[in-house]
Amino acid sequence: MDPIAQKPKVIIRHCDEYDPERIREIIREGLEELDLRPRGRTLVKPNIVASGPLFENAYTRPEFAEGVLRALQDRDDGEMEELAIGERCGITVPTRAAFEGADYNPMIKRVGVKQYFFEEEQQVEIPLTHEGRLRDYLFTPEPIARADFFVNCPKFKAHPWTTVTFSNKNYIGIQDDRHRLIDHDHRLNEKIADLQYIIQPEFIAIDAIIAGEGRMLTPIPFDMNLIIMGNNQVAFDAVCCALIGIDADTVDHIRFAKERGFGTTNLDEIEITGDVSFDDAKKRGSTFRHGLIRVEKYFEGTNITAYAGSPPDAEKTDYCWGGCPGAIEEAVEVLRLYDEQCDEKMARLHVVFGAYRGPIDAKEGEKVVFIGDCVNYDGEINGDTVSIKSLYKDRKTKDPYTAKHDDIFLKLASVKKQIKQHQGVQIIRFTGCPVSVAEQVLFLAELGGTHNPYTDPGSNRDFVKNYVKWRGVTALKRLGGEAYQKHGPTCRGDARPAVPGQLSPPTPAE
Ligand code: SF4
Repeated sequence: MDPIAQKPKVIIRHCDEYDPERIREIIREGLEELDLRPRGRTLVKPNIVASGPLFENAYTRPEFAEGVLRALQDRDDGEMEELAIGERCGITVPTRAAFEGADYNPMIKRVGVKQYFFEEEQQVEIPLTHEGRLRDYLFTPEPIARADFFVNCPKFKAHPWTTVTFSNKNYIGIQDDRHRLIDHDHRLNEKIADLQYIIQPEFIAIDAIIAGEGRMLTPIPFDMNLIIMGNNQVAFDAVCCALIGIDADTVDHIRFAKERGFGTTNLDEIEITGDVSFDDAKKRGSTFRHGLIRVEKYFEGTNITAYAGSPPDAEKTDYCWGGCPGAIEEAVEVLRLYDEQCDEKMARLHVVFGAYRGPIDAKEGEKVVFIGDCVNYDGEINGDTVSIKSLYKDRKTKDPYTAKHDDIFLKLASVKKQIKQHQGVQIIRFTGCPVSVAEQVLFLAELGGTHNPYTDPGSNRDFVKNYVKWRGVTALKRLGGEAYQKHGPTCRGDARPAVPGQLSPPTPAE
């Protein structure tokens, strides 16, 4: 069934516990109501951006995924060749570690489905030809490009870069790091809209039993007691937005997807059913706080003072919602989780983004950190004349074919080295576009004097074990030169994977 051609329907169901059997029943009924049956290569994509006990509200819970997988098995009438679950979690973290931390592995074994770690799979080129695209092609893992029946299973959460992360935004996890980081900047919303051309889900089921309020990696638990299902991603997100009092047309990535023909945000054109009325569901979401807060405001009252100027393409936006400023907000929240005294311990810091033109009120001994390729500044700091030039490279110079993976341990070493070299120097700059959450966690911990999660013995053991496996597997695959598999892709319109040979190997092990 074409998820775009048919009338969109969203089903709102009550569910107040993570009971896989109850979730299975609700999802099965949803599939029945939408008249959907899995077929061919069926792939479920949860959101496991981060996991483990400290991030327990950040990810689609395994009980939820189990219910979805078992319901798909229930609905199989012999047309399903493969049932799989796949994800690319947060940048730099091995997806193996994310699955393990979220306790997915015993469930996957129990249900008997295939597991994909997207960064370990071959990457398939998808050409783009639509008006307003950021680039002419992008890459996605082979299991996504070849899925015949794609199921999107996001977590209902707020997001500091994109207001919310529901179904459309969950697509940021259908690229490996080196491709995901391209355009993950002030044009992030357009990137998310471009990703829609890769594939459209035929079924969407969001884990809104305990939603995540305020933030993305470290959200505050918010009881919605809902499972929401649908058959069109834009319409689905429009309903989810309405539940928390947001007009979906004000959320750029959803509006862009609508404008490109992927669905409607007009609630009058969406059939809404279920055992919870739309009005009752809206009451449940009425106090939900989304995450869009400018960095200057975010750090008010803390030891960090933030200054943000315009990113490049100032005619499009005066703030980089998709890159470095949002990443530092998430980075600080991560540090707070690992160190209860983070805010008290944090050294006085000044952090600067974009083309900042105002004063920087840094006293002697207070570090001023310029963050990102696009940061630029001409002025006086503590009596000294300071000139920081933009190193931003136009996106046309960033070719997905030659994009390189950033190794977290090399990053760790480089951040440490840079900080050592700048001891006693007031100004320090970290380059990148974006400078990721992981890097900002590293330098904030080092400069701020808080506990460093990357040296935390508990989480580090599993991280290193899974990192070694990831690197080993990708090295073997590269040596083996995986064969191209010719399957009919489920891409929309002209977004067909390219001819055989236009493949990129799994993330290299350099
Ligand atoms: S360097 Fe950072 S702030 Fe500047 S455009 Fe890139 S992601 Fe945005």
